[in-house]
Amino acid sequence: MVKKTSETWLAADRAHCWHPFTDQSLWTAPDHEPLVIERGEGVWLYDSEGRKYLDANSSIWTNIHGHAHPEINAAITAQLELIAHSSYLGFANPRASELAQKLCGLFPENVLPRCFFSDDGSTALEVALKMATQFFQQNGEPQRTKVIAFENAYHGDTLGAASIGGVGRFHHGLRGYESEKLRSFSELEDMDEKKIAAIVIEPKIQGVNEIRLWPEGFLRELRSWCDAQGVLLIFDEVMTGFGRTGKMFASQHEEAWPDFLCLAKGLSGGYLALAATLTTERIYEGFLGPGKTFYYGHSFTGNQLGCAAALASLALFERPGFWTELDEKIALFHKKLHELEKLPEVFSVRQCGLVAGVEFRQSDGGFFKNRGARGLAVCAELRERGILTRPILDTVVLMPPLSITLAELDWLLESFAEVC
Ligand SMILES: *Cc1c(COP(=O)(O)O)cnc(C)c1O
Repeated sequence: MVKKTSETWLAADRAHCWHPFTDQSLWTAPDHEPLVIERGEGVWLYDSEGRKYLDANSSIWTNIHGHAHPEINAAITAQLELIAHSSYLGFANPRASELAQKLCGLFPENVLPRCFFSDDGSTALEVALKMATQFFQQNGEPQRTKVIAFENAYHGDTLGAASIGGVGRFHHGLRGYESEKLRSFSELEDMDEKKIAAIVIEPKIQGVNEIRLWPEGFLRELRSWCDAQGVLLIFDEVMTGFGRTGKMFASQHEEAWPDFLCLAKGLSGGYLALAATLTTERIYEGFLGPGKTFYYGHSFTGNQLGCAAALASLALFERPGFWTELDEKIALFHKKLHELEKLPEVFSVRQCGLVAGVEFRQSDGGFFKNRGARGLAVCAELRERGILTRPILDTVVLMPPLSITLAELDWLLESFAEVC
């Protein structure tokens, strides 16, 4: 048998693979050397040439406790000995029951007592959108069909989720939900609120919108507007969930609770594709009885391996000292990143918890002529130094796994400062 090498994998990749959000003409260009990631341990990724890199964007915002964590691995392996997957359509399973109970229990009693599983962030949003609109169809307010989202929001790539997305370069020309994009809260006042089914927001931080933070109090303000107008509120915590912002969920910062809360990315610790949409008893009851069924599901809904990984990941948050240690890391992250603001081409540092976007602009504050090139250049330099992340235009995202040690974090920030 021929020994497989980086070159054999890359040849197969160039011949057969098609990568997400990727201009394949650049990907396959002769001067581009893609990394082939072969294994991971803690915050480190190892490529097929044996080189080691710090996973500074948590493998696209998914990883929480580091790679190959012994306890998450053990939970997956133990589950694998029993069964990998069985249909959730027509059957219950132990891990899904335990996980639903656990997730609902992370919120105050009776706030979000119902859990619907799916596979990804996008599907978690599809579930919330379909539940919200169907709820009104069959509960006496059929005119409520519109979904309001925010400009520059990102909620995923399936058609329904993409139709409420507000990132022009990704979402242009898609039709799905009848939706409007808000630039500001005050635009809500001009709308016919009787036609609105739901408002959807990424609480605390718009991730894909170059890591932008909402003002303090915004979630509570939205919640009270929705209550007054009878509109349902959807929180997309796909990125912000599971400790990234310094609390388990971003909604906890303001103790504002939605009617639907969407979780994915970090739910399984970032190990397997798993998502959940949590909702209220009121919504659940609106689907009881003949002709009211929620006709929605996927082949892998309630996947037992994914649920086992999620339970193990959640158990790690309960380790003594977890939140105090996280606070120390966040303090260091905050301090060292904000020191960069004095540099001439660092336009702004936007940070919350262990999530940050560092935006580069010309020293006069104007955009660089070739927008996005600086972001790519910084990330290329970081790669040379053994750090992997991706830019969003000229904003470089730093979002390490929560398990990063203070020493690793310090090294990451020192190295980052050198390339600013
Ligand atoms: C990543 C992301 C999604 C989409 O999740 P996928 O798992 O990629 O489908 C939705 N919303 C937010 C806020 C995200 O960051």
